[in-house]
Amino acid sequence: MFKTCVKCGIEKEYDDFHNETASEDGKKNVCKQCVSDNNATNYYWEKTNPESYREHMFSRKAYVEQAHPGVKYETIKKWMYKRGMRIGQCSRTFIDEQIQKRKAENAK
Ligand SMILES: [Zn+2]
Repeated sequence: MFKTCVKCGIEKEYDDFHNETASEDGKKNVCKQCVSDNNATNYYWEKTNPESYREHMFSRKAYVEQAHPGVKYETIKKWMYKRGMRIGQCSRTFIDEQIQKRKAENAK
C-alpha cells in the first residue's frame, strides 16, 4: 500500500507514515521524514532566534483570538501539522480559510 505525502509529494509505503488513529486510513498525511524535518526546523528556529519565534507565535495567537473568538490556536496548529506546515508558514489567510471551512462543515 502506498500513500502520497502532502508535504514532499512523494509516494511512499505506509510504513513511512506515522500512525494516526483519528485519520481515515490510520496514517498521517505527512511522511516520517517530513515530520522530523519539520520538528527540526521549528526547534532550530526556537533555539537560534527565540525572540522572532515567540513573536511569531504570539502574533498568530493574538490574531486568532481577536478575529475568531472561540477558536483555539492549538487547534490551528494541529491543522498545520496535519499538512506538514511549519509554524512560519501559517499565514492569516490560511487561518481564515481553515476556520471558514470548519464552520461550513459544522453547519451541514
Ligand atoms: Zn514527505
